[in-house]
Amino acid sequence: MTTVEPVSVADNLARVRGRIAEAARAAGRDPGEVTLVAVGKLHPAERVEAALAAGHRVFGENRVQEAEAKFPALKAGHPDLVLHLIGPLQTNKARVAVALFDVIETLDRPKLARTLAKEMAARGRRPACFIQVNTGEEPQKAGVAPAEADALIALARDELALPVEGLMCIPPLDEEPALHFALLREIARRNGLAKLSMGMSDDFETAIRFGATHVRVGTAIFGPRPPR
Ligand SMILES: *Cc1c(COP(=O)(O)O)cnc(C)c1O
Repeated sequence: MTTVEPVSVADNLARVRGRIAEAARAAGRDPGEVTLVAVGKLHPAERVEAALAAGHRVFGENRVQEAEAKFPALKAGHPDLVLHLIGPLQTNKARVAVALFDVIETLDRPKLARTLAKEMAARGRRPACFIQVNTGEEPQKAGVAPAEADALIALARDELALPVEGLMCIPPLDEEPALHFALLREIARRNGLAKLSMGMSDDFETAIRFGATHVRVGTAIFGPRPPR
């Protein structure tokens, strides 16, 4: 049962964009402040191409290897494509990540910050960085602990001069996401960071209410993911 059901990516995109605009307006925000990151992981490149054909340009992938297989060709055809890394980054993949991604949302530890600084200097390419915060303090999940976030931000942004623009989180599945969105917003506020990547298919409207500037939406655009 691995047949891929037909999905109208263009229709889904239009619907999600409409929901984003409505949620933003309801929160008294300008819908233009919210960037939709379309997450096509595990979906074939054709679905990403359908999104590109519908005018969408901002995409997210959670695995470096999968992005390496899919995106160089798509980027060649669409130089204005913007690619976000939204999954864990091993230091030995930092070089590839700096070359391929435009935004790295998953900076979560000092060693990775130092490696990224070195690779960016060597490459002369500076992808924007978000610090991933493990707001639920889940042991199996990536992200810096909330209590250590300020120190990591200071190291990455102030000491290493990385282009740190914001914070990212993935709330625990079984908890009220709003509490996590509020915590992320507070850490960003006290550190003077303007961008917040939070909210997925099931909770992006709530995230927008709490100030999300980037929502990462997969299923609501591309349909259910085939098994890995
Ligand atoms: C897969 C993924 C998403 C998208 O999830 P959906 O629930 O399908 O919208 C968002 N963020 C991250 C980090 C992901 O890995």
